[in-house]
Amino acid sequence: RVLSSDSGGPLEENFSLALRPRTIEECVGQDNVREKLKIAVQAAAQRGEPLEHILFYGPPGLGKTTLANIIANEMNSAIRVSSGPALTKQGDVMGMLTNVNEGDILFIDEIHRLSAPVEEFIYPAMEDFKVDFTVESGMHAKTINFPLKRFTLIGATTRAGLLSAPLRGRFGMLLHLEYYSDEQLTQIVARSARLLGLDSDADSLGLIASRSRGTPRIANRLLKRVRDYAQVKGSGRLTVDIVERALKMEQIDELGLDELDRSFMRALVNVYDGGPAGIDAIAATLGEERDTLEDVVEPYLLQVGFVRRTKRGREITKAACDHLGLPYKGADKE
Ligand code: ADP
Repeated sequence: RVLSSDSGGPLEENFSLALRPRTIEECVGQDNVREKLKIAVQAAAQRGEPLEHILFYGPPGLGKTTLANIIANEMNSAIRVSSGPALTKQGDVMGMLTNVNEGDILFIDEIHRLSAPVEEFIYPAMEDFKVDFTVESGMHAKTINFPLKRFTLIGATTRAGLLSAPLRGRFGMLLHLEYYSDEQLTQIVARSARLLGLDSDADSLGLIASRSRGTPRIANRLLKRVRDYAQVKGSGRLTVDIVERALKMEQIDELGLDELDRSFMRALVNVYDGGPAGIDAIAATLGEERDTLEDVVEPYLLQVGFVRRTKRGREITKAACDHLGLPYKGADKE
């Protein structure tokens, strides 16, 4: 068990591993997804067949990796983990595929970032459980046809639309993960606090949950920050006052928005007169990656109605301006 504080890297990973639910039952929320998975797992087990290929999509930190591990657990299968950017050559995939046993799970995170040649290489593996491997090149090129064991590919991506249509079409189940309610996040934080042996006042965990942007990963991360704060500035016990002070220090506001969320909205208002503005322009203004804005920042701002997406670009809403205390100039826009 890792209880030390850190801001990333392997310790952070261990921390989130320790808090990760292991079974479908232990998992909170995502009822629809869990129900579909339970049925699929049971049906496949009864038939003694591997599961269909599954694609999870939705914003980061909502449980895609967690669910992939849970499925492996429930199917009693081994899981091999990789990611789109890590599989650059056909040889990388070949190594993985030829090592799988019947029923193994292959988890590919950020699957939308597979290169085109690797993607095409995977098609026959997904469809017919075989690969055509080309050795050497030019005149001496030889294609070797290699049969594979029946495996299950689980892909994860932040947006299903980022996948090419042929790849998307090869998944039997496309499962969308949604933001969690405050109540569900409270359950998750309470479970984490219990696992970490934390002592807490009644409302303190709900307060953390309500500031977590609907995201379990953020909820666990904030819990960790608050735990540190309580230990150093208080008695170690989590109270509403401690949570408020700790989150203020983290620059998390009453709605759970952080500095990046706010600078995104401020840029829209101050630089682009409320919008519409293109995502590339906003990214350039903020000096941020476009991907980060599209995957992490925007989905939640859209969800809470602070940003609108139109054909001409992103626009700020009145609710956002009210929240930020900025004048709203968009009343005349449609
Ligand atoms: P993703 O792969 O979608 O980015 P993860 O699966 O890594 O997200 O989840 C991030 C963390 O959030 C996990 O370590 C886990 O502790 C927690 N978590 C995610 N989903 C749930 C859930 N449904 N119930 C409880 N904890 C969860």
